[in-house]
This record gives sequence, structure tokens and C-alpha cells, in this order.
Amino acid sequence: FIKAELMDGDKNFEFKREVTFEKTRAKRSVLHEERKKLPIYAFRDEFLQAVHDHQIVVIVGETGSGKTTQIPQYLHEAGYTKHGRMIACTQPRRVAAMSVAARVSQEMGVKLGHEVGYSIRFEDCTSEKTVVKYMTDGILLREFLAQPELDSYSVVMVDEAHERTLSTDILFGLVKDVARARPDLKLLISSATLDAEKFSNFFDLAPIFKIPGRRYPVEIHSTKSPEANYLDAAVVTTLQIHATQSPGDILVFLTGQEEIETVEEILKHRMRALGTKIAELIICPIYANLPTEIQAKIFEPTPKGARKVVLATNIAETSLTIDGIKYVIDPGFCKMKCYNPKTGMESLLVTPISKASAMQRAGRSGRTGPGKCFRLYTAHSFQNDLGDNTPPEIQRTNLASVVLTLNCLGIEKEKLFQFEFMDPPPVEAIQKAVELLYAQSALTVDGKLTKVGRRMAEFPLDPMLSKMIVASEKYKCSDEIISIAAMLSVGNSIFYRPKDKQVHADNARMNFYTGNGDHIALLNVYNAWKETNYSAQWCYENYIQVSSMKCARDIRDQLAGLSERVEIELTSNSNDLDAIKKSIISGFFPNSARLQKNGSY
Ligand code: ADP
Ligand code: MG
Repeated sequence: FIKAELMDGDKNFEFKREVTFEKTRAKRSVLHEERKKLPIYAFRDEFLQAVHDHQIVVIVGETGSGKTTQIPQYLHEAGYTKHGRMIACTQPRRVAAMSVAARVSQEMGVKLGHEVGYSIRFEDCTSEKTVVKYMTDGILLREFLAQPELDSYSVVMVDEAHERTLSTDILFGLVKDVARARPDLKLLISSATLDAEKFSNFFDLAPIFKIPGRRYPVEIHSTKSPEANYLDAAVVTTLQIHATQSPGDILVFLTGQEEIETVEEILKHRMRALGTKIAELIICPIYANLPTEIQAKIFEPTPKGARKVVLATNIAETSLTIDGIKYVIDPGFCKMKCYNPKTGMESLLVTPISKASAMQRAGRSGRTGPGKCFRLYTAHSFQNDLGDNTPPEIQRTNLASVVLTLNCLGIEKEKLFQFEFMDPPPVEAIQKAVELLYAQSALTVDGKLTKVGRRMAEFPLDPMLSKMIVASEKYKCSDEIISIAAMLSVGNSIFYRPKDKQVHADNARMNFYTGNGDHIALLNVYNAWKETNYSAQWCYENYIQVSSMKCARDIRDQLAGLSERVEIELTSNSNDLDAIKKSIISGFFPNSARLQKNGSY
């Protein structure tokens, strides 16, 4: 009897599997058709020929032409992964790496993390089977430490090269060098804008492969006078489009999570007030800390009769293509890292975008048909206030972290100043980085890497944080310090502060403050959560974000593993706050100040 039932069950299982298999196959064939419609498809063979003939190829194509999703697949199909080597494709943003990998795994009909995977800081979703690996540019930079000739790869594609992030710029110099040492390695530099000549010149006149794009006309509307509040203006414009314009989705460019959440809330509120008088508006936010399932929502087709509005950061400028966008709202701002080498202070500032960015943003509305772009600034402002291009990150950032990495790769002392930069950073910025690393005992007085420096480089963290961890060994409180480092790495999303319960949330938060500053408060939160055996209920009661805490626990585990690798024993010393503070100060002394009795410093 049992046997019969089992067999019955088995059959049922088989049947179900067949049905899902059919479904997957149907989906795959739809995706297969979609792949053929991409502009790059017609140039597949020509492209493969170019890669066959040249070691380095620069690729230029409009956003959405299929560079990121198709090229690694073409190369895989053409046999570049045959000899057990992978295809690497770097992205400046974590979200892009994850989202594109998910899409490509669907197109190839494989499970994410198997043949197609991604690797971002603190999260490696790859396996032995992986042949196509999407990763952030920062991860590839770190991989150089373990394999200076990138032996596991047959092709390296530095994608979104026009973004010119710090890691991408450093990669340019390093991969150029590896290409000389490894003639079998193929190098692709791909960009969505027309500065390809510059890339080609840097890479010894590598040929430029252009993918002709489809582009529809975009009508540009600017405001007649400057907007006092661009968030408010963005909300009003969204609702006006929704009420008066023909079908088509809306894309709004905002500067970060906080703005996105604010606009989302106001839009929801206003839509509720309008009730059934107006068609449905589906609001889709996208930013790095958003859970993956919700991120995927931006790609779902909009149901008939409804309209979608995507609230995005700069990620939607070129990294992610969302089909169906017909209207773009561009407030004209983005968050930009700025660094003052004299003071050594770095800050993230909301600044006006460049003309090149404004053109890219407008272009997002004309991908599948004629579009409209609503600029929330005047035409005069576009002409006179915006710079032509955004200066590359390398010229406006703290270089301590990359200088440490380069030192580990043997690029030290005067070699640092001779490194092949596409656009060199200010000399003072390199000097400042060397000084800082010396002060942290990561470099000797004549610029040689020390044991402390080598240990620090093992951690994928800012040198101030890694120094804090290395120093905690001496003060016997590494257990506490890695908790603090993990909590700091999660970012500003530990405390939950809903608009209607701010007082309660603030009171709950104050319970963790024992008069010893933010770091100790974060440690208190972590330890209290651990005491409850990682309870979610406890998080709700204390206005703490569960997902952020889980993320911190995950990062903490990894930091513990890395500490073990550099032989830092995990010791707890939670009663000795001075020891903990001393460790923090060992890393962060450049950021310290003494408050004078009269209140100045
Ligand atoms: P490019 O890199 O040239 O900008 P992509 O390869 O990123 O172009 O995009 C090609 C197509 O794949 C686009 O039409 C886009 O809509 C689709 N696509 C990319 N990523 C995803 C995703 N995560 N989900 C659904 N569709 C996607
Ligand atoms: Mg792309």
C-alpha cells in the first residue's frame, strides 16, 4: 500500500515537473525571440570576428542595445569558456550586477549562481559551474590580489566604462598590463557614450566596434523659471503626465534612497486622494538596499490601463534599461563624492549633473518610440550652469584604499606616480593617501608595505575600518570591533523611523545610547539582538530594520573569517570600553578633534 502511494506520488511529481518544464521552455522561447530583437543581434558574427582578430576591442552602443546581457552569452556560445575559464563582466553598481545576472540566467535557462552568477562585496553568488560572472569593478580589483594575471578568466569585459568610477579607472591600468603578459586574454571595454576614441587611444589604438542604435526623437521641455523644490515639482509633473499624456511609463531621476522614499510616499498619498478618478499608477522604486524581489518589479510589464512610474537613482541613466519608458523627469541633480586632499575630508554632495548626463537621461525616453523629457530646470541653466562632463571619480576622491591595493600588487613608491592612469588624479591626492597609510603603519617611512598594511588589505573595507580591526588584536576586543565594522558597513539603514511614529522610534533608539557615541550604540544594538537569539520580533519592538541586521550578521561572519585568515584571534572584551575606543581611534584618528571648553575645536 505504501509502495503504491509512493508510486502515485512519484507520478504526480513527474507530471508537475513536466508542466513547470513546459512553462520554463515557453518562457525561454519568448526570451529567445526578445534576444533576437536587440540591436546587437545583427552584429553577432561581426562582433565575434572582431574579438577573434584583436586582443582588445572597444565597444560603443546606446543603452539597451544588448551589450551587457548579450556579449558574455555570445562569447560563451562561441567557446570562450571551453577551457574552464570564465567570462568576467564588471559593473560600477551592485544592483546592476545582480539584476543583469538574474536576467542572463533566465535567458540561458539556468539557475542564478550556477552557470551565470554574480559577485559583489560581501555577497558571492557563483559556484564551481559558473562560466559567466557579473561583478562590481571593485570586486575584480580585489581579485587581482589573489590572481595578478586573472588566470580564471578568458575574457574580461569592463562594462559601463564611461562611468569612470575609481575602480574602473584603476582596472584600466591593470588590465592593460595583464593583456601584455597574457596574449590569450581578451579584453573588452564597453561604453554607452561616444568617448570611445579616448578608450581606444589609451588601449594602444584598439579598434572601436560600434553598434548602431535605434533612437527616436525626444521632445525636451524645460521649466520657464527655476524650481524652488525639485521633489515637489517631480511629484506634480508625474501626476500631470499621468492625467494628461498618452500611455507610456515614466522614469524619474532622484539622488538617493531618501528622496525616492519621500517621493514614493507623497505620490501614494496624492493618488489615494484622487481615488478612482484617475487610472492606476504603479510606483516602482529602485535603489541598492531594496530587496531583490521588489527590484525585479521595475521590469514587469505594465498592465493595460495602468501606468508605471519608476523612481530611480543614476543607475537608470545607463546601467539598467527599463522597457516601456516614454517620459523622463529630470530634476538635474545627482549625488557626487567630493574630496578635499588638503583636509582629507570626503563628502557626498547633491550636485548639478553634467550636460552629458542630462542628454543620457533624456535619451532614456526615446528607446522604443518618440519620447518626452521634462527638465525641472531652465534651458538657460542647462546652457550656462551645467558642466560638459562629470569629472572622473579618481579626480575627486580619497585614494587611500586603492593606493593600499596597488602597494599590495607591487606598485609602490615612485611607481605609484608612474602608474598608467587614463586621467591622473591630483598628485596631492596620492601623496595624502601615502601619508595616511604611513600614519596607520600600513607603509614604512620610505613607502614600503608593512605586515600591518598587508593584513589591512585583506579586508574589503576602507583602510580606516581595516586598521581598526587589525588594531583590535592588541586591545583584545576584536569580537566587538568586527561587530562595529559590520554595522557600519550596512550603511544608514539600521534604525527604522516611520514618519508617523518618529517620537517612538527616537525613544527606542535612545535606549542604545549610553553616552559613548554612535559606534558603541551600534555595538549595543548588535549585542542586544544577538542576546534575543536574532529575534525579528525584538527588531520590530525596537524600531530596528530586520533585513539590515541580518545583513550585518552576514558581513560580520565574513569579517570573522577574514580575521582568522590574517591570524587575528577573536577575543571579547566588552566590559572594557576604553579598549574598544582605542581600537576605533587607531583607524579613525585623522577624523578626530578635541572639543574645547568654550565649545570651539
Ligand atoms: P546595454 O548593456 O547595451 O545597455 P542590456 O544588455 O542591459 O543593454 O539590455 C538589453 C535588454 O535586456 C533591454 O531591452 C532590457 O530591457 C533587457 N533587460 C536587461 N536587464 C533586465 C532585467 N534584469 N530584467 C528584464 N529585462 C532586462
Ligand atoms: Mg549595459
